[in-house]
Amino acid sequence: IKWTEGRGWHDARLQPYAPLQLDPANMTLHYAQSIFEGLKAYRQADGSVAAFRPDANARRFQRSARRLAMPELPVETFIEACELLVRQDKEWVPGTGEESLYLRPFMFATEVGLGVRPANEYLFMLIASPAGSYFPGGVRPVSVWLSQEYVRAAPGGTGEAKCAGNYAASLVAQAEAAEQGCDQVVWLDAIERRFIEEMGGMNLYFVHGSGKDARIVTPSLTGTLLPGITRDSLLTLAGDLGYATEETRLTVDDWRDGNADGTITEVFACGTAAVITPVGEAKCATGAWKVGDGQPGEISMRLREALLAVQTGRAEDRHGWMRPLA
Ligand code: PMP
Repeated sequence: IKWTEGRGWHDARLQPYAPLQLDPANMTLHYAQSIFEGLKAYRQADGSVAAFRPDANARRFQRSARRLAMPELPVETFIEACELLVRQDKEWVPGTGEESLYLRPFMFATEVGLGVRPANEYLFMLIASPAGSYFPGGVRPVSVWLSQEYVRAAPGGTGEAKCAGNYAASLVAQAEAAEQGCDQVVWLDAIERRFIEEMGGMNLYFVHGSGKDARIVTPSLTGTLLPGITRDSLLTLAGDLGYATEETRLTVDDWRDGNADGTITEVFACGTAAVITPVGEAKCATGAWKVGDGQPGEISMRLREALLAVQTGRAEDRHGWMRPLA
């Protein structure tokens, strides 16, 4: 779907996957007006196909657009695009369990020019790719590197937006994590470099205590982390399962000390791709520590199963999260 100043959205089309042709002075290549979303369509227990909370992705896409001075795509148009593509590619939606059709909506400037200003032409596109189970051999905890040198987002910046530039800026820290023998990077706040923000492409949760008395804590949305839709859903779902939840600020020392004295029993990351990934080990410049016994925690796995059951239509959709598409 194209957008042109003065004309708005026009020329919606469904076409076979093919390369795009870009002018060397395409403004996106120079000034990075590029935003995207990621969501999944799951085969339901009854054989139909439904997307998980596409309206929430559509609204986040609008917020990202506003932050990058781009036009907002109406929520219903975003969902209709998902519907059109999923209907077309219905046979690509796998039939079982965690497998899904990953949907990637994105928008970028198509105007040609070298001046720095918001473009007056954009293209919204949606592509899809089948996604297998994230952990084919069973859920495996990840190790994380707490980056104190690089920051992902500063107050007033684009941290809350899902824009391409945020990911470009994070690649060097991800490489540093790999050099440290860790799977993923964990970002700290830009000012004091001690508050935990989020993981490379997932939000974080900390479980305090165990059993029915467990309290499930996630860093508050301070404007510098991405408001994950999985994060938001888990606040509700954890409440449904009877756990107390809390959004708060938490430092590296809180995490390390909490692990040492046993008040933090589990840590997990959450996002569209993996749903929930247990964190087994953390490392920073001043030391490394194991989370619990390093194995997937009971509550993390319970929440993972509960969310996947809603997503795949095996559990009641109490909050109207599933949107039938095909
Ligand atoms: N943080 C970042 C930086 C991400 O890229 C993602 C993935 N979109 C998330 C968190 C998790 O968000 P969601 O649950 O909406 O996938």
